[in-house]
Amino acid sequence: MRNVLLIISGPSGVGKGTVVKKLLENGNFALSVSCTTRAPREGEVDGKSYFFITKQEFLKGIDEGGFLEYSNHFENYYGTPKKFVEDMLKSRDVILEIEVDGALQVKKSHPEAILLMIVPPDEAELRRRLEKRGSESADMVEKRIKRTEYELSKKHLYDYVVINDELKTCVSDVERIIKREKSR
Ligand code: ADP
Ligand code: 5GP
Repeated sequence: MRNVLLIISGPSGVGKGTVVKKLLENGNFALSVSCTTRAPREGEVDGKSYFFITKQEFLKGIDEGGFLEYSNHFENYYGTPKKFVEDMLKSRDVILEIEVDGALQVKKSHPEAILLMIVPPDEAELRRRLEKRGSESADMVEKRIKRTEYELSKKHLYDYVVINDELKTCVSDVERIIKREKSR
């Protein structure tokens, strides 16, 4: 069975982090930890949630070719460390949880990567989830909702689109896809 590079995208607040957490509890995946210039949220741990770095450090990483992909969105840089992903893929399935522009960059350099988009049951529920999470200012919630349309407009470029309505069903749908892709 092959090791898969699974890229999970979807609008902010749809539940990507929640689904990924379940996948990690149930399976033996390596999760890529991204670098970001955004400030940590309460409870986020440096090196685990993200590597929280300065803009200057991020730009240096770009110059040195250290990112598999990167993007500037929500007023910050986010990028995937190249070495970690390429090393891990030799022995494990690897998950990236990144937005659409970065996902499409990776698909170009790694055409075998599986692009999976998680979508909400509807926009009202997405807003409820973002507000319930309570991690962003009202202004940033609006910015995140606004980007949803752009993210969803790229869904035809994805290999799979999975609805996160009932969490359990969504997780088992994703697990079924991974199983099928591994045995290809
Ligand atoms: P993302 O990583 O996509 O930004 P999160 O995983 O942080 O989203 O989830 C956003 C909020 O929605 C969290 O409060 C989470 O507990 C909640 N959530 C996730 N999945 C579901 C679901 N299927 N039903 C209801 N709430 C959910
Ligand atoms: P958040 O600020 O909510 O943690 O993440 C905002 C968005 O950035 C999410 O859509 C998330 O998937 C995306 N993201 C996180 N890490 C990366 C990364 O390394 N590269 C790209 N392109 N997007 C990322």
